Amino acid sequence: MKRKEFIKLSSMAGASCLLSSNNLLLQDPTATAQNSIEWICQGDPNYDILRKGFNNSIDLFPQVIVVCKTTEDVAVAIKYANIHKLPVAIKSGGHSMEGFSCNQGGLVVNLSKMNSVEFLPNDKIKVGPGCELSSLYEKTLARKRIIPAGSCASVGMGGLTTGGGYGLFSRKYGLTCDSLVEATMVDGQGEIHNTLVNPELLWAIRGGGSGNFGVITEMVFRSYPAPNTMRSYHFESNKLDAQKASSLLEKWFAFSEKLTESCYSGYVLNGRSLNILVTNFGNHTPELQKELDAMALHFDEFTMVRPINLADKVKRYYGSKIPMNFKNSSAGLFNQYAELASCITDVLDKVINTRGMIYQVNTLGGKIADPDFEKTSCYPHRGYNFIGELQTYWDSPKQAPVLKTASEEILALLYKNGIKAQYFNYCSSAFEKWESAYYGKNYKRLQKIKNLYDPNNTIRHPQSIRNGFL
Ligand SMILES: Cc1cc2nc3c(=O)[nH]c(=O)nc-3n(C[C@H](O)[C@H](O)[C@H](O)COP(=O)(O)OP(=O)(O)OC[C@H]3O[C@@H](n4cnc5c(N)ncnc54)[C@H](O)[C@@H]3O)c2cc1C
Repeated sequence: MKRKEFIKLSSMAGASCLLSSNNLLLQDPTATAQNSIEWICQGDPNYDILRKGFNNSIDLFPQVIVVCKTTEDVAVAIKYANIHKLPVAIKSGGHSMEGFSCNQGGLVVNLSKMNSVEFLPNDKIKVGPGCELSSLYEKTLARKRIIPAGSCASVGMGGLTTGGGYGLFSRKYGLTCDSLVEATMVDGQGEIHNTLVNPELLWAIRGGGSGNFGVITEMVFRSYPAPNTMRSYHFESNKLDAQKASSLLEKWFAFSEKLTESCYSGYVLNGRSLNILVTNFGNHTPELQKELDAMALHFDEFTMVRPINLADKVKRYYGSKIPMNFKNSSAGLFNQYAELASCITDVLDKVINTRGMIYQVNTLGGKIADPDFEKTSCYPHRGYNFIGELQTYWDSPKQAPVLKTASEEILALLYKNGIKAQYFNYCSSAFEKWESAYYGKNYKRLQKIKNLYDPNNTIRHPQSIRNGFL
């Protein structure tokens, strides 16, 4: 870096703070902003709000948070981080389960203001990484278009897409990353790239781009005609023991395998209560009714909810917008009940006997398994039809160690019984061999891309792809 450029970049931090020669951040209220960047340091009234993510139990203190409005702003921030040798974390919606969108003592690129949704010709939609799902659904459904995405209102499109992204529409249209057709990225040295001239980068971003090679600043998606309505069906049983909950899980696997691609289903065991949700934006056929009736025989209650307008229905699954104390993670990907049979009763017994713990299994499959998507993205788990999820929530910090230990014991039990594939978007620091768990055989190819775009490992978090010397 030339001396002139160094001085220019150092002075750009002047909007609210400066890095001094002894590496401390100093307030400099007299300095004037030279671009649309906001530099936020400790002492700024917004610092505490911006450093926190959705997981309230994670407390990290970066040296500087850089709120960017354009791709060029991001390039300035990354060059600044290089000059001052600061590690970079990237925050879009802030929902990383392990807090990977913040760091201790480094620089955080905050993309919350890069949240636009722009309709392009040929039904393509340009989306900023900071766009939250509630805003995405509101704007696209108003135009009767849909990009398949997740359920939670405040999840950001930046993290969701770069890690995969599944939800109620995935079995029909694929993962969120499968609809991504173009992306702009600022690499670890502050250089700007577009995937139209680099298909290998697009392959990597689709499922392997979360805080690894650069900051994704713009994404263009193909969109699909939105269904008008969605309906749902609910089964419930209470006072279950682990044996009964396992037997109902086995029945649910057999039931789910027959669902059409317009349906999603989830098995949710919370304490001794089991809820099964089925959503459907396709036809309610006699075949489906027959399967529902057969399933209902095994449950205490069965409810059918009439179809309602899709824009209203997606809101029912938005969840909390308020940050919570939790430790959630993926609990393996698999294809059939038989793969879990050797340990599932022990797993469910621990869930039932650990207050605050939830075990969930969701349907995948359908279009997610499309061989064309397999070729054009690094997401490695397309062959799996189901994903497990462990959730633990607490009010008082005193409860946390018990819940975390129970969660780790369950993950270890699953691993011992051969359940090893995991979903990066439900990351956990407790996963063994996370490189192969998240990326399978694609990890080495991703390391080459890391070398190309971030040779100095400027962009990093505890489970980011390591530079490979291959
Ligand atoms: C309550 C809740 C509900 C969820 N529901 C779903 C669901 O329905 N479906 C689903 O698939 N997942 C779901 N998730 C998981 C979610 O997809 C991931 O946590 C995702 O990473 C969140 O993205 P974010 O932008 O909000 O998070 P952030 O914390 O901002 O980022 C998460 C990760 O992505 C990286 N990243 C973020 N933005 C960029 C960018 N622009 N460029 C490069 N890297 C970036 C960060 O480095 C970090 O590692 C849920 C999570 C929570 C907490």
